[in-house]
Amino acid sequence: MANPKLPPRPPFMSPVPGARVLLHSCCAPCSCEIMEGMKESGLDATVFYYNPNIDTREEYEHRKTENKRFADKLGLPFVDADYDNELWLERVKGLEEEPERGKRCTICFAMRLQRTALYAHENGFPVMATSLGISRLKNQEQVYACGRAAAQLYPDVIFWDYNWRTKGGADRSAAIAKREEFYRQNYCGCRFSKRKDPPDNA
Ligand code: SF4
Repeated sequence: MANPKLPPRPPFMSPVPGARVLLHSCCAPCSCEIMEGMKESGLDATVFYYNPNIDTREEYEHRKTENKRFADKLGLPFVDADYDNELWLERVKGLEEEPERGKRCTICFAMRLQRTALYAHENGFPVMATSLGISRLKNQEQVYACGRAAAQLYPDVIFWDYNWRTKGGADRSAAIAKREEFYRQNYCGCRFSKRKDPPDNA
């Protein structure tokens, strides 16, 4: 049900009208606004959960279960990819002390979005998107540069770099998370993000 205090959500216009959209999701609280908006806009969206960065299998499963619960509620297909935490740790070796928004995060975004682009290419999704940039804690341009580079690996995949935060998107996201009583983690995901205070809002 629409919250009268929030601005109404504009329709989401896919860069390829009518095409299937693969939405990489990091967690339910970040992706809920995008998922709900895609459903409302009549897009043929599938949620792709690939987050090998998350520290501990238990935490990974918890975030995934919350995300799938909402996908099921909306009737959106949900794809659970591998939990490659060992591979993720290998990729970020030497970058453990980097601050959030630093080089480790670029590697992290690139790995997750390259896997998303590969799945899109292999499974007939001309458009891919991600929830990673909706949080004000993230550098959206850092995320989107990784998304564009990942999609450019395949001639048949486009990265949809819409700013999901604008026009009330970030506020609606928070409102949906509250309404749905999602589990809300207080750190980004990897073991290194547990040790520091999150960065200031963008
Ligand atoms: S802080 Fe977040 S984005 Fe950065 S490396 Fe860790 S999990 Fe990935």
